[in-house]
Amino acid sequence: MSMHTRVGILGATGAVGQRLVQILADHPWFEVTSVAASERSAGRRYGEAVRWLLPGPIPASVARLQVVPAVPERVPEEVVFSALDANVATEAELAFRAAGRTVISNASSHRLHPEVPLVIPEINADHLALAERQRQKYGGAIVTNPNCTTIGLCLALEPLRRRFSLRRVLVTTLQALSGAGYPGVPSLEAVDNVLPEIAGEEQKVETEPRKIFGRLTGEGVELADVAISAQCNRVPVREGHLLSVSVELGAKGTLEEVKQAFLDYRSPLSGLRLPSAPERPVLLAEAPCRPQPLLDRDVASGMVVTVGRVRPCPVLDYRFVALVHNTLRGAAGGTVLIGEVVVKGSRLLRAQKAPRQ
Ligand code: NAP
Repeated sequence: MSMHTRVGILGATGAVGQRLVQILADHPWFEVTSVAASERSAGRRYGEAVRWLLPGPIPASVARLQVVPAVPERVPEEVVFSALDANVATEAELAFRAAGRTVISNASSHRLHPEVPLVIPEINADHLALAERQRQKYGGAIVTNPNCTTIGLCLALEPLRRRFSLRRVLVTTLQALSGAGYPGVPSLEAVDNVLPEIAGEEQKVETEPRKIFGRLTGEGVELADVAISAQCNRVPVREGHLLSVSVELGAKGTLEEVKQAFLDYRSPLSGLRLPSAPERPVLLAEAPCRPQPLLDRDVASGMVVTVGRVRPCPVLDYRFVALVHNTLRGAAGGTVLIGEVVVKGSRLLRAQKAPRQ
């Protein structure tokens, strides 16, 4: 009997959906058995409907699947990864939850709802308890993956938060074109240019970390008391968001102690042996000219955040540069990691409930 959990992908033809198809094709626990997209794509084989943008061929096992509409009646799997447009995701994900499914979503639609966990597994896997509360109330659950920039910022800050706590954060971002999906920004606006506005992005980066770093209570999540100011720019890079960060810490530390906090940080998930969880989710680059999107985004299958140029800040305490692969750790890879935690948790639960031999 196959040990694979069958999963569906909603929005499988988009920039993030393609990454999900790519990652899940070789996944040891998951098997993609449904792909859904808009009416434009539905009815055709995935290999014909998708405009494949990634290196290498479309995985054959998915290329032959027929694309279906993103409705629970046509996507029967218990676990569904969503990479839908946010305006479509709102209703579609609620329908899947009402049908008793677990939706793990990249869309922003439900991220800040008090009943919905917003999860970076290394930081707040305990918030997944909210999914269980949803299951009791609705039959199914929605679990959300944060915004791609938020994920890079929170993971980069996590070693400092654990060691010193955080007070205030300033972040200026240089964000890749793939973050806008496909076809995204018109080439005549992107090439030879920097766009100093990404609609809605700054608000997401300023609010989502407060929920992720927040404390789970009986009512929901009590937001963390950290002030964040974000300025977001779109730059002509294909993949990889670069973040320039200044931070004020709760407890003072020397530069050496701050660097050591990054070096000492290890994944709290390592005991679970999850296929997508890096042992060291945050790496410290030595060379002063790193990290760079072109050179560092694919380290550890794009699942780590690389930090560099750690130095004192004359305004706050310290500043550094961080790089996150926006469609891998920042989107598809992040949701697959959440899926692994969810499935492992339910397997553990089943094992605990099984009668002793
Ligand atoms: P995208 O390239 O525009 O893809 C959108 C997907 O949604 C496509 O598969 C599209 O199918 C499908 N879709 C659109 N309208 C639909 C409808 N009415 N019914 C069913 N499916 C529909 O967008 P993306 O960049 O992959 O982003 C997907 C989601 O992830 C968004 O919510 C985005 O905000 C979020 N996200 C993106 C990134 C990133 O780096 N790109 C990072 C984090 C989060 P068709 O091909 O048939 O139109």
